[in-house]
Amino acid sequence: MRVHTTVLGYPRIGAGRALKRAVEAYWSGSADAAALRETAARLRAETWTALRDAGIEEIPSNTFSLYDQVLDTTVMVGAVPERYAGHTEPLDRYFAMARGDAGAAPLEMTKWFDTNYHYLVPEIGPETAFALAGSKPLDEYAEAKALGIETRPVLLGPLTYLLLAKASDSAPEGYRPLDRLDDLVGVYAELLGRLADAGVRRVQIDEPVLAADRTDAELDALRAVYDRLGRLERRPEIAVVSYFGDIGPALPILAAAPIEAVGLDLVAGARDIDRVAGAGLTGKTLYAGLVDGRNIWRRDLTAALATAASLLGSVGGLVVGTSCSLQHVPLDLDDEPDLDPDLRGRLAFARQKAGEVVLLGRALREGRDAVQAELAASHAARSVQAPRDQRVRARLDSLEGRSDRTDYGRRGAAQNGAERLPALPTTTIGSFPQTTEIRRARAAHRAGRLDDAAYEARMREEIDRVIALQEDIGLDVLVHGEPERNDMVQYFAERLRGYAATREGWVQSYGTRCVRPPILYGDVSRPEPMTVGWTTYAQSRTSKPVKGMLTGPVTMLAWSFVRDDQPLADTARQVALALRDEVHDLEAAGIRHIQVDEPALREKLPLRRTDQRAFLDWATAAFRLATSGVADSTVIHSHMCYSEFGEIVDAIDDLDADVTSVEAARSRMELVDGLRAHGYRRGIGPGVYDIHSPRVPDVPEIEESLRRALAAVDPARLWVNPDCGLKTRGYPETEAALRNMVAAARKVRATLAR
Ligand code: GLN
Ligand code: ZN
Repeated sequence: MRVHTTVLGYPRIGAGRALKRAVEAYWSGSADAAALRETAARLRAETWTALRDAGIEEIPSNTFSLYDQVLDTTVMVGAVPERYAGHTEPLDRYFAMARGDAGAAPLEMTKWFDTNYHYLVPEIGPETAFALAGSKPLDEYAEAKALGIETRPVLLGPLTYLLLAKASDSAPEGYRPLDRLDDLVGVYAELLGRLADAGVRRVQIDEPVLAADRTDAELDALRAVYDRLGRLERRPEIAVVSYFGDIGPALPILAAAPIEAVGLDLVAGARDIDRVAGAGLTGKTLYAGLVDGRNIWRRDLTAALATAASLLGSVGGLVVGTSCSLQHVPLDLDDEPDLDPDLRGRLAFARQKAGEVVLLGRALREGRDAVQAELAASHAARSVQAPRDQRVRARLDSLEGRSDRTDYGRRGAAQNGAERLPALPTTTIGSFPQTTEIRRARAAHRAGRLDDAAYEARMREEIDRVIALQEDIGLDVLVHGEPERNDMVQYFAERLRGYAATREGWVQSYGTRCVRPPILYGDVSRPEPMTVGWTTYAQSRTSKPVKGMLTGPVTMLAWSFVRDDQPLADTARQVALALRDEVHDLEAAGIRHIQVDEPALREKLPLRRTDQRAFLDWATAAFRLATSGVADSTVIHSHMCYSEFGEIVDAIDDLDADVTSVEAARSRMELVDGLRAHGYRRGIGPGVYDIHSPRVPDVPEIEESLRRALAAVDPARLWVNPDCGLKTRGYPETEAALRNMVAAARKVRATLAR
């Protein structure tokens, strides 16, 4: 059997975030569509040639996107909602769907499975007229071919597309996008015919929804789709590929389908490894995802080879590759000359991962001896581990089982006695608008153009302004505004031991927004206070309480690349211990409200229900470790952003925080129902307005939200706050909205007293 090599996708933002620059130049009008197309074509060509030169045999195409691959699919299958019909220029229509325009709101954006990538949610209704309306996969295939590179076009699968969609506003109650599967598959059938005509040998159809729990009806739909597509007279070979987890019960269905290949994520979905032998894949090619596309560590190639070798007897063909698209990791480790050499040795970015795949392929074809030197070098680099910090480990052992506060009911009395807050206290989530001047000051300080004293003075001025503004608005619990933070994870990562930062390690978060996740590589500890100076300065400027602001352990992990040589739960405890030190120092400095944000708690929730309990257990335990050991009178807040609150309300209870604020403005009724159903008894601040838009809610609208919340929440437990931090907003709308929020809270308060 000849073993081939592949990757499932590659970073598309280009070196130096070239795509971001090109798209934003087009938006601002400083470059035209032709310039944007030229950059896009150059980036695609760079990817294909890089993969070819690395020695990858099966090179994917149609993995490029100007904004998002789900949006590309929406355009291709003719599912563009009516409200964008005014645009005659396809490029402008495309970006209008992504970002909105004067007349039409953008498509909703949400997280792509359990990653920090966001896709644009398709809106499907009875009015959606599916039709093959675009030729992107054909065009990109032809483009690569013109460069002499044969590729495997990648399509987002129809089942995944519809399961990720939501019903359009005009759809009747209970409408399910999945009911349109037959119509959509018709479009795919036509597309496959055209791809075959163009000379495509094999397509990759991604169905990552198989990595989550699926109903029997959905599995039946899977069977029907690939039965139909497989039986087409004119089509390329089909590889149905899943990633982000094991596909369990879907595996025998794909094995029995009339398709040529199946792809499995054998890293996140390692449970599938043992299922391959009995799956009936002897007549099919297996795409074995053996190199992790989600994390940045060098692969243990000996272990990967052993897994690959164990599969050979059970499959008809083997293609070794990445576990998922490499779009989730940075492009090239060679862009990181400043990293500590030992750490660098342990890392592999996209380009290095392609190299690992090639090496695996050679070892499988030519035998291990042929690549002995490379394997040994890889092994040696991998085995240089960061030194253990025995002090951290000993402290954690001594805290084992000692992370509980006094019962919540009893703490309440101490908190009320220590401080007289009005009913329905008003507050915000932490950040205030980040003005150009603050960003400039931070950048200048970083670059050494602004000295520490001048920077500190500049930030203190900003804190003075934000405190004065909050007092003027009449908020009850104030914040310092987070002007010193570029990013809520990066800020702490830069101050914790065990974390490293990259120079060019960008990954796409959504559209042109890229993030540079820090690398958590070693034992974590806090050498010195991280936020106490700013928070106590803010407190010194007001007699109102100021709330300290920290990022929680799960979020610190979710938005970083995290060591994989020990369980995540252990790493979370180390981060929690460092945060606990900060919490205690804030308390000792007189700060009585401390918020520990966990916006990523929902995002990190495992895709399969069987894994969720264990995750929530360690996640909530880490939060409790970070926030316990404080006086009963200290009020611990937490904050989360997502709308399906009901799903996770028990876990929020388990955090044992005194007050939790949650993003809720876009799904108020669900939240209230969830609270009622669970008999939730802690402090809760359902966001009363959506901070993701500049719209200013008026007073009656906020009053109405509060009244609805009061239908489910004891008035003594209800807090009043926006949905999330205000850092992306401008000052005029922020000030107006907060004034309305305070006015609404006062009106509702007055009715409570009566
Ligand atoms: N405290 C953070 C802020 O206000 C919380 C951000 C978030 O939830 N993503 O910016
Ligand atoms: Zn938030």
